[in-house]
Amino acid sequence: MTIDPRTMLFMTNAVAFVASAFLLFEWHLLRERSLAYWSAGFSAIVLGCAITPLREEGYFIVGVWMANGLLVTAHIGFLYGTASFVGRKISPAWSTALAAWALMLAVPDAATRTQILSMMNALLVAVLSLKSAHLLGGFRQRNNPDSALLAFAFAAHGGFYLIKTLTAFLPGAFVNLSHYTGIMISVSLFEGIMMEVALALSIVGALRRRRERSIVRLAEQDPLTGLLNRRGFDTRAEAVLAEERGSVALLLLDIDHFKSINDGYGHPEGDRLLVALGVFLNSTLPAHAISARLGGDEFAIFLPGVDAFAALTLAKALCRGFARVGGGRGNGGTLSIGCATHAEGPIDLEVLAAVADRALYDAKRQGRNRSSHREVGREASNAFSQQEADSPSCAVLPLIPAAADGAKTREAMPGR
Ligand code: GH3
Ligand code: MG
Repeated sequence: MTIDPRTMLFMTNAVAFVASAFLLFEWHLLRERSLAYWSAGFSAIVLGCAITPLREEGYFIVGVWMANGLLVTAHIGFLYGTASFVGRKISPAWSTALAAWALMLAVPDAATRTQILSMMNALLVAVLSLKSAHLLGGFRQRNNPDSALLAFAFAAHGGFYLIKTLTAFLPGAFVNLSHYTGIMISVSLFEGIMMEVALALSIVGALRRRRERSIVRLAEQDPLTGLLNRRGFDTRAEAVLAEERGSVALLLLDIDHFKSINDGYGHPEGDRLLVALGVFLNSTLPAHAISARLGGDEFAIFLPGVDAFAALTLAKALCRGFARVGGGRGNGGTLSIGCATHAEGPIDLEVLAAVADRALYDAKRQGRNRSSHREVGREASNAFSQQEADSPSCAVLPLIPAAADGAKTREAMPGR
């Protein structure tokens, strides 16, 4: 099999053309600015490849110097595309890479001109590609789930051009740019084709993964409070629960007399209270808590690795804190909290939720503005009023053995 440099150059041009047209079409559909930059980068390669054969006709400036400059221009386009993709501003100083390329014109027409041009050109492409990989945050999947592959492609490309820089003066590497002689010229054209395909595919993959994640995020988010919705909550809490073998707690929160807040102050005021509760939870809860608005005025907090004492202390603090944040509306703006805990071993979220629901019913029935606790399997119930919660002597109450009040749930509660 003979693959001569001219055929590879032709293939480079064809692949760059397809990549440029494809990314342009994607930009037309998605209107992502990064796609326009990346497409422009591939267009610069197309143009560079198109004028490269002129070097064989003796047009060194156009066929070598300008063609190489277009390769640098392409990588500036890729860098701007990457910066736009990650939402970072790129310093205009990076465009001065073109000035460095322009300086190459000053290289005297001496025996070493081929090597100097090749080295400078490779160095610029290497630095621009490695900067793109750096902007993407490296290629560890964990740090960079959307674009790890793209970062890897840029890093590999930059690494290759760094080697090219270092081998510029190696005998036999670049013999004559005008006649494509020298082993590095063929190797470089081959790498170019592979890298064009790898970059174009990983650009599209990175954008698709990012869009998918943002769609999932939207599907799992409550638009009013910005907290998770029930779907997001279930997914995350179940994933943690599957791993957790220690104590867990689930708090169900419900605003007291929320209907009368809506009726008395208007729906927008009710909305404001829901938002205030979301903000309050975000600023109060520990980092490992998973919180959500399940719907209406009902919120949930899942606490892995938290025992009954800690869960109740938190529930009481939430009741007390929210009475200050949301209070002042007569008969509204307070919370009732049902707290379910499970000491150890596997447990279903559904079971935990049913127990928390019964505890919430207890809190409502016993006068609202309080938290109530039930331990899974023991069904003990303790309700703590706001006043009790404020009293230090009430910080830890012994769990009362299971009372057989059992089966009545909040669904059966009158007026709900
Ligand atoms: P209780 O103390 O027993 O909880 O009484 P309540 O009036 O709070 O009763 P409930 O929790 O059943 O009331 C939920 C109300 O929440 C009913 C519905 O009109 C209102 N609601 C549901 N979604 C929204 C919303 O997005 N915005 C507002 N403002 N109100 C909502
Ligand atoms: Mg309510």
